[in-house]
Amino acid sequence: MKNYLLSNYNRFGILFDRGEGATLFDRGGKRYIDFASGIGVNSIGYGNNEFSKAVSEQVSKLLHTSNLFRIAPQEELAEKISQLSKYQLFSFFANSGTEANESAIKLVRKYGSKTGRYKIVTLEHSFHGRTYGSLSATGQVSLHENFQPMLDGFSYAKDIEDIYNLIDDKTIGVMVELIQGEGGVEPLPKEEIQRLAQYLKSKDILLIVDEVQTGIYRTGEFLASNYYEIEPDVITLAKGLGGGVPIGVMATKLENGFEAGDHGSTFGGNFLASVAGLKVIEILEKEYKSGDLQKRIELFEKRLNQLVEKFPIYTSLHGIGLMRGLSIGKGFELSTIVEKGLEHGVILLKSGRNRLRFLPPLTISLNEIEEGFFKIEKLSKEILDKHGK
Ligand SMILES: *Cc1c(COP(=O)(O)O)cnc(C)c1O
Repeated sequence: MKNYLLSNYNRFGILFDRGEGATLFDRGGKRYIDFASGIGVNSIGYGNNEFSKAVSEQVSKLLHTSNLFRIAPQEELAEKISQLSKYQLFSFFANSGTEANESAIKLVRKYGSKTGRYKIVTLEHSFHGRTYGSLSATGQVSLHENFQPMLDGFSYAKDIEDIYNLIDDKTIGVMVELIQGEGGVEPLPKEEIQRLAQYLKSKDILLIVDEVQTGIYRTGEFLASNYYEIEPDVITLAKGLGGGVPIGVMATKLENGFEAGDHGSTFGGNFLASVAGLKVIEILEKEYKSGDLQKRIELFEKRLNQLVEKFPIYTSLHGIGLMRGLSIGKGFELSTIVEKGLEHGVILLKSGRNRLRFLPPLTISLNEIEEGFFKIEKLSKEILDKHGK
């Protein structure tokens, strides 16, 4: 059958039909435990009644008015983000991670324009998005190939120490993911980040933390920045915030970072997206406060550690909270594990540095965790048997 889509994705052939909790069902009714949540998006899983009620009621009432008018749930969501982040943040709403980062780059450059500074330092292996500004910020330079020239003024540090080397008198920002999502689920060292944050402050250079994947309780805290006990000048959010409804946020300490006309988005923060974001946060805040989220994190971590102990396929555990990676031993194929996962009914993700990535819904039940790991153990035994032990 002819397919009228462009070929920019490498897709699996499965056609999913519906979901319940952290379990997906394909058209044939086969069950899959979801350890991927649509790449960290479905943070409250599937079929959440409270969420669908809030969203469908809003769909019936009003979806969009444009940002020419006040939007009450957008104001409420901005306040909630500031309150939960534990310091004062002012938000701009967009529709995706890359757009949130674009607005961060513009905001930071505007700030720098007063002193003639425009350069931004990011890290190698980083991922900040696919549009030109965010792509230019992305330190996986293989993604730049065939799309040159990139935006001027970006450089990529090998590690945190190297950031200091790349800063010069034209530098206005440093942009990092505290845990590199696409780059191998690699957390940055906490003390080094705290020291960097202090240094940047002393030089009036802005710290931008891309929390598109780490934000909204993914690490067990509302922001990874809370876990790292830093207060970045700018954070960006997207993936897990909308529960599947597209949303992006750039939130900053700089109350007057933009003036009217500096930036905008037609759809950004409309009624649908804002109500979805508010509901997701409300649901996850409860899970956090009740301690249920922590219980899931602990069980998940225990089972991951057992995989490393039991199978030479997995050599080390990385990441924080429910954002985890397993390094794959020599002679084993990451793609084989992911494909076998689908055969056995568990959805797994790849990440850079030859690591298997886990981003389950934050509301996953303890039983679903057990079932998912049972399937991984089974497929791991199969791989080892084939490997001749
Ligand atoms: C996914 C991701 C992005 C890009 O988000 P999109 O919504 O796909 O544009 C940016 N930064 C990080 C850290 C991401 O994980």
